[in-house]
Amino acid sequence: MPARSCAECGQRLPRPLPGPGRTQQYCNQACRQKAYRRRGGRASGTTGAQRHRQQTPPPATRPRPGPKFMTTGGAKSLDHTHVFYTSALISIRCSPESRRFYDRKRCEGKRHTQAVMALARRRVNVLWALLRDERCYE
Ligand SMILES: [Zn+2]
Repeated sequence: MPARSCAECGQRLPRPLPGPGRTQQYCNQACRQKAYRRRGGRASGTTGAQRHRQQTPPPATRPRPGPKFMTTGGAKSLDHTHVFYTSALISIRCSPESRRFYDRKRCEGKRHTQAVMALARRRVNVLWALLRDERCYE
């Protein structure tokens, strides 16, 4: 019998199995398992694809910070709100009328964001009225 030491750890095998059968290659079941895994058997636990995924984790999908006023309620559905908010914000700087409206809201005790949102809402209302009556802004 050729195999007298464990093929995995090299330890001397206790004794050859009596009678016919497979020649003993490993000192115990643990060594047999280890050798099997090294050969890439099914007992190796992970498939090639799994190993690849472990090596290259997906990029972190951290939600991007949105504007402050988007902290409550749905996120994506409020994109149009962001458009009007930004529009109102710019109009405060460009339009004296918008500025007065904003200042008035601020005097009423509203926060900056609330005042801008109020202006945005008013502008939407104006826009809606124009569309409804098929008029142009004068
Ligand atoms: Zn062994």
